[in-house]
Amino acid sequence: KKPLLEFLMVECVFIVFVVMAQAVIIRAREVREHLEQLTKSEQELMVERAISDKLLKIDALTGLYNHKTFHEYLVSLLEQCESNGLRLQLALFDIDNFKRVNDTYGHWVGDLVLKEVAAKVGGLIGLNDFAARYGGEEFAVIFTDKSIHEAYAAAEELRLKIAAMEHPYAGGKPITVSIGLCDYQLGDGKEKLFRKTDHALYAAKHSGKNAVVTASAAHDDDNILSYA
Ligand code: GH3
Ligand code: MG
Ligand code: MG
Repeated sequence: KKPLLEFLMVECVFIVFVVMAQAVIIRAREVREHLEQLTKSEQELMVERAISDKLLKIDALTGLYNHKTFHEYLVSLLEQCESNGLRLQLALFDIDNFKRVNDTYGHWVGDLVLKEVAAKVGGLIGLNDFAARYGGEEFAVIFTDKSIHEAYAAAEELRLKIAAMEHPYAGGKPITVSIGLCDYQLGDGKEKLFRKTDHALYAAKHSGKNAVVTASAAHDDDNILSYA
């Protein structure tokens, strides 16, 4: 009788152990699945965040930074200029006679030209530079860590390379840009930097287009206004 009782007890302990072990295994699997689910949804969230971040920052047509992001970035860079002596130049690009491209070949050709010019600008600028679609057919480039001479050379190279592009779908004629360039002067602030750059662009248009004009120190605000 005794051995049977012993056997039953051992059996009972064994069964309890197996059940408990199974419960532990099941629980562990649940936890692991939960964790996997968690990291998966976390990953999805990160991807979603990256996409919406991109949509907020990037211009859909050209893939360059949009107007808003450009201003945010410029503000923080100008702070670096004022506090750490970062060198900065602003260039405003405006495609010449762009309305004619649209009127002659259609809006979609205009869009294609915009994309291609933007790709050229984005592809040619340096790692320390920043390109944005500033407006309809206007681009802005921020050069940093350059002398004004280096920035001018970079703007001039961009102008020449844009003019050398071929546009068979737009009558095979060159598309050119006018560029206003301004070296940031400490204390000027964003508005004055823009005013000066804009007036340099205006001067480039008035010089016959397809040109880079630098806002020279001699052209202070009052002189610049006399262009208008
Ligand atoms: P200028 O040499 O003085 O700059 O002459 P312009 O014809 O380039 O200047 P204007 O400001 O008169 O015309 C700009 C044109 O750009 C008008 C507008 O229809 C066109 N435009 C603006 N945004 C877009 C766009 O996203 N796609 C297309 N296809 N055209 C655009
Ligand atoms: Mg314009
Ligand atoms: Mg234009």
